[in-house]
Formats: sequence, structure tokens, C-alpha cells
Amino acid sequence: MGERSRQLFEEAARYFPGGVNSPVRAFRAVGGEPFFVARASGSRVTDVDGRSYIDYVASWGPMILGHAHPRVVAAIQKAAETGTSYGAPTELETRLARLIQAAFPSLERMRFVSSGTEACMSALRVARGFTGRSGIVKFEGGYHGHADSLLVKAGSGGLTFGVPDSLGVPADLARHTLTLPYNDVEAVRTLFAARGADLAGVIVEPVAGNMGVVPPRPGFLEGLREITRRHGALLILDEVITGFRVARGGAQELYGVTPDLTCLGKIVGGGLPVGVYGGRAEIMEKVAPLGAIYQAGTLSGNPLAMAAGVETLTLLQAPGAYADLEAKAERLERGLAEAAAASRLPTRVNRVGSMLTAFFTVGPVDDYASVRRADAGLYGSFFRAMLDRGVSLAPSQFEAAFVSLAHTTEDLEATTTAARESLAVAAASR
Ligand SMILES: *Cc1c(COP(=O)(O)O)cnc(C)c1O
Repeated sequence: MGERSRQLFEEAARYFPGGVNSPVRAFRAVGGEPFFVARASGSRVTDVDGRSYIDYVASWGPMILGHAHPRVVAAIQKAAETGTSYGAPTELETRLARLIQAAFPSLERMRFVSSGTEACMSALRVARGFTGRSGIVKFEGGYHGHADSLLVKAGSGGLTFGVPDSLGVPADLARHTLTLPYNDVEAVRTLFAARGADLAGVIVEPVAGNMGVVPPRPGFLEGLREITRRHGALLILDEVITGFRVARGGAQELYGVTPDLTCLGKIVGGGLPVGVYGGRAEIMEKVAPLGAIYQAGTLSGNPLAMAAGVETLTLLQAPGAYADLEAKAERLERGLAEAAAASRLPTRVNRVGSMLTAFFTVGPVDDYASVRRADAGLYGSFFRAMLDRGVSLAPSQFEAAFVSLAHTTEDLEATTTAARESLAVAAASR
């Protein structure tokens, strides 16, 4: 790590636990210390020591246009000039809602919040308030933000650090969260047969992203839809990553499954803090001020964030945007797979649209158990070698790489070359 990053990290550790404001930013799972970012533009981030990296972290998903897109920056600047927050409604909120609903018709009514965590937390409250039931079903390795009810066998940071649960979550609350294996529809059927009358809903990442990318098996999402409907429970699709990522209309468009409630975040904020929850009007009309389910936010629908979201979603309407993303991501997938084959390291690349993970393991990776078999130590060697070669991947085996519209053919070629060399380094270090 560069000298300036090292100094800043040392000082940051005096203010923040582990020197960071979100645990996934620390490099503990891969060894070493994080670089501090000075600036970013397009496909690249530049650290405070002047090193530039081709970036696949993409702020963990939002930067689908690349960093500091000039039109998004201009929209934020323009909004800032007329005030940054009012605590009163603006037309920008309606404009962003219109763009979201055009892509996600299932969001008949929606509410803006400031993070994906808030969106998921609120969706659970709505599911419980609407059904009058307490139980929530989630899946192993599924991350839905850090609300109490959802920090049970969650992926991402929890999975990375091997602490699937958190201290500070009351057992009385956690017992209402029932966790089942991802992609196991029979387990869901069995649970509902036994306890269906207590279950408010099922929350699922329709393409898992927080244990690394794991696509749904054919029939899994359809099965969840059918089972929840039959038992009067709600299906909540957590599309915080997949929304406007795997398709414009998210996984619900890609797989043709209509949920009762949807959570969005990341891309819809265009790099500013936004979350959204919404769904059937009949359900959402139980939310205050119309109904008795309370949820509020001082900065919800913030004009800067709305402006960034509107501009981002507008730019994503360009003809061919998703075909372009698909082609770029497919090229990267192929490059990684070829590099892996040359290295003879057992590697499995999972990809849906422009999100992908190369798992160091043999055999299919289609649930939490198979994810856990991946060699995180080997990933650490690979990660560090890639960083040395100017490619920034997520500092954990159990995360996705995100391809953006700003990645050029040269970026993808350079990444493939770096991967070939880095895999050789990783193989030699075994
Ligand atoms: C990132 C994420 C969240 C939480 O969003 P934050 O904005 O980090 O609070 C929730 N669900 C999924 C699927 C996510 O990837």
C-alpha cells in the first residue's frame, strides 16, 4: 500500500472502528490495508498515492455508468444551487418515481428512504403490519442490510468475517427470522406447510449478490411466488443490487416473477444515498399518513439524491445500454474463465448480466454451502496480485464484481491479462 494511504488509515483508525465506516471496506479478508481514494472518473479510481485502478467495486454496485459521469455531476450541481433539503415535497421525487415505475410496474406505490437497509427494514414492517403476522423467511447468505431482524445468517461482511449473527440483536427478535438454504424451494414449502399462518413474508435476493453471485435455480423464484400467495404471505424481492442491474426492470423482469413488495437502492440513487420500497397499492396504502404502519425520514427524497437518480436512470434508457453491459460482462467472464483454465486453478465463474463472481472451487456454486467451499485464501492472493497490476476487485471472495458502461474494451483486455498473471501468482503461492 502507498505511504499516504498508510498514514491516512492509521489516523482513521483513531476515529473509526477498524479505520472504516463500513466493515466491507477493510481488507481484513484478503490481507493488507485499504487504499484511500482521492478521486474517480469513468472506469477508474485513483488513490491518494497517485495509483490508478480499473474499478469493479463500483461503490458496491451503484456506479453502473462509471464514476463521476459528467451529466450526473451536472445534475447534482444544479440541484445544489437551489437548496439541498427542504423537508417538503419536490417534483424531482415524482420524476424519479415515474422512471422507477416505468421499469418496475409492480411498484404501484413507493416510498423513498436513504439506504437499502432502511428500504428492507421498512418492507419487513409493512409485510408484518399488512398481514398481522411476525415471522419472516430469509435465506442463508442473503444480505438485506443491517436491521435487527435481518442480521441472521446474512452474507457480505457477516459471511466474510465468519460472524453470521451480530451481538446486540435480541434473541426474542431473531427467533422471528427463519433462515432456509438458498435455492431450496422444497424447504420453503415444508416450512410454510408447518407454520404458514405465522409467516408475514419471504425476503430474497432474486440473484444472490452478497455471498458472491449465485443465480436462482429455475423454478426457485416462481416457487416462492406460488407458496407465499397460497399462504397469504408477501413475497419481497430485495433488488437493491439487481434493480436496473441484471435488466432495466431487475430480476423481476428477467425471470418474470411479480413480487408483492420490492426493495431498491444503489443504482437508483446514482451514487447518492437512496433506498426505495414499494409494491401493491393495497399494501402500501397501509403506510403513514394513509395507514397505521409508521415510517419517516428527514432526508428522504433528498433533492440531490433524486437528481442523481433521475439523471442515471435517464442515461440508462439509451438504446442498447443493457446489451452493451451484457457484452462487456460476457467478455470479462470469458477472459476470467480462460485465465483460470490456463492456471489450472479450480475456478467457477457465476454471472448474471453485469454482476459476476469467480469462485475458487470445483463444481457448481448454487447455495451457501457450495459458496463456503470456495478457497478464500487463494482469493486473497489473487486479489493482491490484481491490485498490484492496477485492478480493484472487492476485498472478499464472497462479493460481486460489477461491470459498468464506462469499462472500455481496453479495460477488459487489461483485466484479463492481469488475471492471467495474478492467477499464476496465486497458483504458485499455494
Ligand atoms: C447493499 C444491499 C442492501 C443494503 O443497502 P445499504 O444502502 O448498504 O444499506 C440491502 N440489500 C441488498 C441485496 C444489498 O446488496
